[in-house]
Amino acid sequence: MSFMEPETCYTYWITWEDSEGCHLAPYTSLRSDYREVEEVRNIVESDHPAWLSRLSAPGYLDSTEWEGPYDSEKEALEALAETYSLCLDCWEDYEACDCVEVDNA
Ligand SMILES: [Zn+2]
Repeated sequence: MSFMEPETCYTYWITWEDSEGCHLAPYTSLRSDYREVEEVRNIVESDHPAWLSRLSAPGYLDSTEWEGPYDSEKEALEALAETYSLCLDCWEDYEACDCVEVDNA
């Protein structure tokens, strides 16, 4: 999963539900997103911007769903790392990364 990189965005956002569940997106990208979906319910538009985060693969059209909204970019990144069990420093799988040094070497 190491090709996935964190992406954050400070923006107005919107949430909605469809047959697949709840979704979140930056307000600007929403319009195209939800026009493709037939049954949309419970649309909530933000009245203030917040931080969103997701993982995306540069060079690919692959990304996770947006997470959020969060009050700070730090919080958005921490939540993203926790959700996908990734290291906050290198964004490798937490168990596979070498960032954590042995305490009492
Ligand atoms: Zn690491």
